Amino acid sequence: MIVIDAHLDLSWNALNWNRDLNMTVSEMRSLEAGMNEKARGNNTVSFSEMRKGEVAVCLATLLARSNPQGKTMLDFKSQEIACAMAQGQLAYYRILENQRQLRRLDEWPALEGHLQEWKASNGSSCPLGFILSMEGADPILSPQQVPSWWEEGLRVIGLAHYGVSAYAHGTGCEGGLTSRGPGLLKAMEEAGMVLDVTHLADESFWQAVELFKVTAGRSCLEIVSLQMTRSVT
Ligand SMILES: [Zn+2]
Repeated sequence: MIVIDAHLDLSWNALNWNRDLNMTVSEMRSLEAGMNEKARGNNTVSFSEMRKGEVAVCLATLLARSNPQGKTMLDFKSQEIACAMAQGQLAYYRILENQRQLRRLDEWPALEGHLQEWKASNGSSCPLGFILSMEGADPILSPQQVPSWWEEGLRVIGLAHYGVSAYAHGTGCEGGLTSRGPGLLKAMEEAGMVLDVTHLADESFWQAVELFKVTAGRSCLEIVSLQMTRSVT
């Protein structure tokens, strides 16, 4: 069996939580024993566990919010800081790609080739495949930056995470797209990005689906398919 995991915060775990994903889950948990921070000692993902679970491909995230009032380890005081954090998370993926532990899948032929290699080797000699996604678009400073993120391998963008982002309202709050949301959606359309509607507040969700469909003139099938994966992490 091949599993495609639609959402894993691998870099966030590594950089923000300082977890070495080459360790087993139990090793990581034992190192965090006695730490008081919420969710310490309770991690769930490592590369060895992904292999045991036959996760041939995942959507791996970049995750950094801009929220000056936030108190958590993923709330940064400005979009510029969130952008730099996401670039750091990207660097982690690149290091693991160079070590052939991970393989970024940017296009369909790469995905198909990866799955063929995975099947042929039962996953034993094959890097773990990932599609690069961004959970909450705060690290994108402006729509003009979207093409450079595409060049760096980003293929999927969610506009918001928890709370309000620069572009939309997310989980735990109510409201539509911000004034900057439509411009970002247009740039995403032009680049060919997939819109991930996970975490969008209802009003933002419907506005995004309507705008993305209208500006693209294409089926919103991929949006709906991602909606089915709406998650809470
Ligand atoms: Zn997440």
